[in-house]
Amino acid sequence: MRFGTTQIHVDPGPGALVRALSHVPPCNPRELEAIVLSHKHLDHSGDVNALIEAMTSGGFRRRGALLAPSDAFEGEPVVLPYAQRFVQHLERLEPSSGPYHIGPPSTSSGQAVELRTSMAHRHAVQTYGLHFAYEGLRVAYLPCGRFFDELAADYARLEPDVLIVNVLRFRDEMNVDHLTWEDAVTVVSEIRPKVTVFQHFGTKMLEAGPQRLAQELEDELGRRVIAAYDGLRLDLDTEVAAVGD
Ligand SMILES: [Zn+2]
Ligand SMILES: [Zn+2]
Repeated sequence: MRFGTTQIHVDPGPGALVRALSHVPPCNPRELEAIVLSHKHLDHSGDVNALIEAMTSGGFRRRGALLAPSDAFEGEPVVLPYAQRFVQHLERLEPSSGPYHIGPPSTSSGQAVELRTSMAHRHAVQTYGLHFAYEGLRVAYLPCGRFFDELAADYARLEPDVLIVNVLRFRDEMNVDHLTWEDAVTVVSEIRPKVTVFQHFGTKMLEAGPQRLAQELEDELGRRVIAAYDGLRLDLDTEVAAVGD
């Protein structure tokens, strides 16, 4: 994500570094201010060490920030100890906390991005939602976890303009730690962001047709609803402005 001149990489899963470099224009990891993990599962953190190396020029230039739940650093750390030492600022995220401040780059006079966390998600490892705020724009990311009653109210409290929601399953056949489409609709209907972006689809979700589901929900809510696909780029200021109040 880019807020002003501040670049933040959220949940660098496998291939994140290659994709950042092949992006047009390229996302230069040496200009990254921070890497943030919502949780340590490998589909969200597989490239974190490679990205730290890139951000710090192989450890040659100690810089940047890494913000993640504490279990990403300890026990069976996904952020390897050698890579932790390359990062200038390590932050162990706590539930319902912040603001943590990120950036701006030392070359810029912009303001810092504020990050607050949600209450703990119900997932196998420590998992927190991420609320970013920058120049009046509020963007929340609701990562993986199972549905529970207090979830939507917790996100609604910070009134996100944009809500990015991971929805893995179309229907729940195996009772896993992830939102189903129905759960996701319940959550979004209660939070009522101006713009919703769904992502992190499993096979059944892809078969169900995320674009069509998003369109139906958009018609129902009268708010912008987008189903993400690989390589999607969004100008969130423009999307939010188009919805109005
Ligand atoms: Zn997970
Ligand atoms: Zn996941």
